[in-house]
Amino acid sequence: MSFDSLGLSAPILSAVANKGYHTPSPIQAQAIPAVLAGKDVMAAAQTGTGKTAGFTLPLLENLMQGTKAPRKQVRALVLTPTRELAAQVAESVTTYGSALPLKSAVVFGGVGIVPQIQQLARGVDILVATPGRLLDLYQQGAVSFKQLEVLVLDEADRMLDMGFIHDIKKILALLPAKRQNLMFSATFSDDIRALAKGLVNNPVEISVTPRNTTANTVKQWICPVDKTRKSAVLVQLINDNNWQQVLVFSRTKHGANRLAKSLDAKGITAAAIHGNKSQGARTKALANFKTGEVRVLVATDIAARGLDIDQLPQVVNFDLPNVPEDYVHRIGRTGRAGASGQAVSLVSHEENKLLRDIERLIKQNLPREVIAGFEPTHALADTDLSPAKHAKPRNNKQRSGNHNGRANKPRRQSSEQRSGKPGENKPNRSKDASGNNSKPSNQSRRRKPANRKPAAL
Ligand code: AMP
Repeated sequence: MSFDSLGLSAPILSAVANKGYHTPSPIQAQAIPAVLAGKDVMAAAQTGTGKTAGFTLPLLENLMQGTKAPRKQVRALVLTPTRELAAQVAESVTTYGSALPLKSAVVFGGVGIVPQIQQLARGVDILVATPGRLLDLYQQGAVSFKQLEVLVLDEADRMLDMGFIHDIKKILALLPAKRQNLMFSATFSDDIRALAKGLVNNPVEISVTPRNTTANTVKQWICPVDKTRKSAVLVQLINDNNWQQVLVFSRTKHGANRLAKSLDAKGITAAAIHGNKSQGARTKALANFKTGEVRVLVATDIAARGLDIDQLPQVVNFDLPNVPEDYVHRIGRTGRAGASGQAVSLVSHEENKLLRDIERLIKQNLPREVIAGFEPTHALADTDLSPAKHAKPRNNKQRSGNHNGRANKPRRQSSEQRSGKPGENKPNRSKDASGNNSKPSNQSRRRKPANRKPAAL
C-alpha cells in the first residue's frame, strides 16, 4: 500500500514524501480514510505507531476544503496531556502543512501567555493545546470554539492518569455539539471507554497495537545488578557498547538529577528532564539530545511521555516503574515505526515484585544477562506466567535461591507502592480512589493510580 491510495492531495503527499515515508503505517492506513470521510475515530495506538500523522494528515486535508478561521476562532483542536507532546504534534502539523494556507498554533503552560493570546487573536485552523492553559486562555476571552469542526484527544489514557478529566469535561462543554471527534489512547480501560461514550458517535474503531504488548522490534533484556552498582554498570554498558544516544528512565526527579550528574562526572554527557525543570531547560535538553550534544537523557516517566525521537536506539530503565504499564510506554520510545531498538532494565533484587508484575503484564519472561564484575548479591526470581493464581514459581535458571513464596501472594500493589513515596503526590481523581480494589483485572487497575500530579508538565 502507498500513501497515494488514501485520498490525500498532492501538497500533503509531497510533505509525506519529503519526510521519507514510503508506506503508511497500519494506523495511518486505517485512520486516514476514516477521518477523511468525516467519521469519528477511536484508536488504540501508542506513541511509535505513526498515530500523529494518522490524524494530522487527513485533518489538514479536510481543513483545506473549508473557509479559514476568523478572529479568535479555532477549527480543529488537538488536546494533549503534556507540553512536550503538544510541541511535537505542533511540529508535525507545521511539517506536513508547510505548503498549505492553514494557520496552526500550540499553547501550553510554563511559558508566557501573551504571545499565545496574540496568535489566537488572528484565528487558527489547528490549535494544539494542553488542557490547563487552554482553559486559562478561554477564560481570558482569547479563544472561541464556536466554529470548531474537529476535536482530537491524543493520549487520552495519560490525560486521565494526570488528572485532566475535569478540565477535559469543561472543555467539551464549550464545544459545539456537531463536530468530528478523534480519540487516541494507548489502552482502552473502563475509564477511557466511559469517556469515549460521551465523546465519539458511532466511531470507526482501530486497534494497531495489542493491548499491553511491547513492540517486537525492541530487544528487551534484564541486567540483574545490586542497587548501589547500577550507576557503575550503566557507565560500563555505555562505554563498552559505545552507545551514543541513550534515554534513561528514572523513577524519581532527584534520582534523575543525581544520575545525570554522576554520568557527566564520568565523561558521559548527560541531562535530566523532569517536571521540576523549567520548560526552557527541558526543551534545550531534548534539543541537545536530538543533535547528539548530550549523549544520555535521564527522564522521569511523565517527562518522557510522548517524546518523539526518531529511531531511538537505546532505552535503559535505571529503575523499574511502579506502574507496570509504564514499562510498555517506556519501551515505546524505541524501535518505533519499524526501526529496531534495545531496551535494558537494571534490576536489583528489591525490584523483584515490580519485575514480576511487568513480565505478567507483557506475558513474557525477559532474558537476564549478568555483566561480568557486576554479579548481584541476590539473584532475581523468575516470573511464573501461568494464569493459576497459586501456581508455584518455576525453576529459576539462575538458581537464585530467592523463591521464598512471594510469587504466591496477590500481585496487586498497595496504593502506596503504586504512588511512590506516601503523601508525595495528592490523589487527583477522588472518584477513582475508592473503586480501586474492586476491579479484578490488570486492565481495569491500570488507570487507577491516582498518583500523578495534574500539572507535572
Ligand atoms: P508517532 O507514533 O506519531 O509518535 O510517530 C512515531 C515516529 O514514526 C515518528 O518519528 C514519525 O516521524 C515516524 N513515522 C510516522 N509515520 C511513518 C511512516 N509512514 N513511515 C516511517 N516513519 C513514520
